[in-house]
Amino acid sequence: MASGAKSEGAESEKALGGLVVKIDMKCHSCEAEIVSKKVRKQHWLEGNLYIVENVEAEVCPECGDRYFHATTLDRIDKLISEDHPVKEVLSVEVISA
Ligand SMILES: [Zn+2]
Repeated sequence: MASGAKSEGAESEKALGGLVVKIDMKCHSCEAEIVSKKVRKQHWLEGNLYIVENVEAEVCPECGDRYFHATTLDRIDKLISEDHPVKEVLSVEVISA
């Protein structure tokens, strides 16, 4: 028997508010039709910055606004919290404009 199978806990609906972005069919900024796409996302968790590739997002083809489902954000938090493979480590410059 293969070990290491993990059960996906029931994902509860997160209450709206805070960082949760509601998905509409149209962009909030320019009202263009948004499309589903895999993107590279900057993601902060507990004071650390992560670049997460292959994240499902709704992207506006006109202005580039990106919207993420709350469940997608939850999944990324979870992924980061657990053991995860690291593809690359980057150093980031912090500057003041
Ligand atoms: Zn737009």
